[in-house]
Amino acid sequence: MTDRRAELSANLAKVEERIAKACAAAGRERDEVTLIVVTKTYPASDVRILSELGVRDVAENRDQDAAPKAAECADLPLTWHFVGQLQTNKVRSVVSYADLVQSVDRPKLITALSAQAVRAERELGCLIQVALDAAEGGRGDRGGVAPDGIEELAALVAGTEGLRLDGLMTVAPLTGPYAGRQLAAFERLMDLSTALRVAHPAANMVSAGMSADLEQAVAAGATHVRVGTAVLGVRPRLG
Ligand SMILES: *Cc1c(COP(=O)(O)O)cnc(C)c1O
Repeated sequence: MTDRRAELSANLAKVEERIAKACAAAGRERDEVTLIVVTKTYPASDVRILSELGVRDVAENRDQDAAPKAAECADLPLTWHFVGQLQTNKVRSVVSYADLVQSVDRPKLITALSAQAVRAERELGCLIQVALDAAEGGRGDRGGVAPDGIEELAALVAGTEGLRLDGLMTVAPLTGPYAGRQLAAFERLMDLSTALRVAHPAANMVSAGMSADLEQAVAAGATHVRVGTAVLGVRPRLG
């Protein structure tokens, strides 16, 4: 076993234990929560090791970084999630490798994703990114739509060719009433998910929680946690 493989294996085991403990504490089954490893800034060789170690879901946030990596890893049985702010001029590339886009936050993006999904003859999973710190009718600094904008975007995704509405995603806010209150933020996301599922029962993915707050996300009911640093190490640059 190489040093890197041993390191990733040990880190994965620790994260797995944290998720298992959080599930037990919340009275949830371990298989109700899916680990997505955020591999941004790390090389394709790490993605390959993670796949060999049993990881099935990976996430990226910048197309420039993700596209070549996904191409190098095309032979692996992985589901690729795109979780970053997405410009429409990158959509064609992202749709060529992403199975899900978790950062859907505006009508123009939905139109672009649909056009490219249809062109590629694929069905693309979409999560509406929610910015819990955005003003009503607005969007977050790091992407995402304010809670009052979810319904419109959800209906658009659900009614648009090539796209499948899978659920909601959020990043715990750094500002506003939820700053430093991750559990409250994720509970709010769960309430929004419950409301969404009245009209869209299949849109049951709730993507919340990162390395620092995955326990709170599991406690609130998240179905997917997105963990980078705790598996791969501290990123050399902001990504
Ligand atoms: C980077 C990133 C993560 C993972 O963050 P860590 O703190 O490294 O676990 C999760 N979600 C999104 C949207 C990210 O950009």
